[in-house]
Amino acid sequence: MAISTTNPATGETLKTFTALTDSEIEHKLELSQQTFKKWRKTPITQRAEWMDSAATILEQNKAQYAQIMTLEMGKPIKGAILEVEKCALACRYYAENAAKFLADEPVSTDASLSFIRYQPLGAILAVMPWNFPFWQVFRFAAPALMAGNVGLLKHASNVPQCALAIEEIFTAAGFPLGVFQTLLVGADKVSDLINSDRIQAATLTGSEVAGASLAAAAGKQIKKVVLELGGSDPFIVLGSADLETAVSTAVTARMLNNGQSCIAAKRFIVVEEIADLFEQKLVEKFAALKVGDPMQPDTDLGPLATPNILKDLDYQVRQSVQEGAKVLIGGQRLDRPGNYYPATILTNIPPGSPAEKEEFFGPVALLFRVANLDAAIELANNTPFGLGASAWTNQAQERDRLIDEIEAGAVFINSMVKSDPRMPFGGIKKSGYGRELGKAGIHEFMNIKTLWVK
Ligand code: NAP
Repeated sequence: MAISTTNPATGETLKTFTALTDSEIEHKLELSQQTFKKWRKTPITQRAEWMDSAATILEQNKAQYAQIMTLEMGKPIKGAILEVEKCALACRYYAENAAKFLADEPVSTDASLSFIRYQPLGAILAVMPWNFPFWQVFRFAAPALMAGNVGLLKHASNVPQCALAIEEIFTAAGFPLGVFQTLLVGADKVSDLINSDRIQAATLTGSEVAGASLAAAAGKQIKKVVLELGGSDPFIVLGSADLETAVSTAVTARMLNNGQSCIAAKRFIVVEEIADLFEQKLVEKFAALKVGDPMQPDTDLGPLATPNILKDLDYQVRQSVQEGAKVLIGGQRLDRPGNYYPATILTNIPPGSPAEKEEFFGPVALLFRVANLDAAIELANNTPFGLGASAWTNQAQERDRLIDEIEAGAVFINSMVKSDPRMPFGGIKKSGYGRELGKAGIHEFMNIKTLWVK
């Protein structure tokens, strides 16, 4: 994919960028190597000061950064502003807590002194997606840099201005040159980067195909990898749930970021006794969403990020309908410039159709009716993915079974799934492995060193 800014609301390519040459990449790798030697010894109090400054810069310029995101990938501007604020929150969280997470941990053994020390690994490659072009990067960078690692960002090719802005934020915050660098390169360079002995580990957020490819290359080099991949999260609504709140949250959970979120609720699994009412309310709320220019503050649903995402989603819907799914609302591309797709609900979903087995990365809700809790859990788990799950009930026994039996990296009861700097985030099954955020997140890229003094 060409490295360029193309406005998804109009289809107009506004700026193109030349990929780095091999010798420019080499120079940046060498810089990261040299910087790491000093950075790992920089006092954590100093790192925290710079991380706090990064948060301040984000907060002070949130409108500007939000506009870059919306321009490049089409998310509604109100969500883009919240995204910048969340990045600042993550910077402050790790500035405040990293020293505690990285402190030596005494362990009592038969040695005179035994403890665990957390030490950084070196340069970490971050291969990132366009859907949360700031948040995905900051949730990697804040813990990684506080831990004493240095970061190299290979961002998605359609968000180069976001990638460059993030590098500038870290530089302006005071981080030494080379602690965080953006590499403007295509996906074809990722294997070479992994093969470089100047890169010690990698993290990728994106599709299964990209994740498998990076993991295979890293596997050959015996390098640690964290993978945050796709999801087809269930949103289960049981008879005892507060239906009004469940439906309103269902809309937000599906439509966030124009439906392009890994942890978006994608499969709505509703028990028969309330299914008609849930369906009717969901259709009403989808119909009321304001579709339009993502730069306008009252827009709920903007364009999809690229023509390819639109093409894929359109195909998945058409194919599912051809195999027997019923459209309750939407279901046809909008006849206007830009990558617009309407809020859509599919029901009567036939087994084996794309709507039953694939991730739908856009504003399409897949509605399933089940007889009871057992059937809901079985259907929720009947997916190759295991990222998050949201479940709605007011019965303690049901809640406990959902928490225990849902196969996912996160289960949220009576709430939508969301990431939070204080809690670990990640998936199981084809949604990937490893964790970001929280204490677990900062420990992913560390040498957990055993120290034993006889
Ligand atoms: P993508 O095509 O996999 O792109 C993600 C990143 O990987 C981009 O930087 C891309 O570079 C790069 N890439 C693509 N193919 C690659 C390959 N073969 N080897 C190495 N790198 C490669 O993903 P996307 O379609 O943009 O993102 C949507 C997917 O990401 C969805 O499945 C979504 O659920 C998932 N996602 C997961 C999380 C999570 O936390 N679990 C969060 C957000 C999104 P180019 O842009 O240059 O191709």
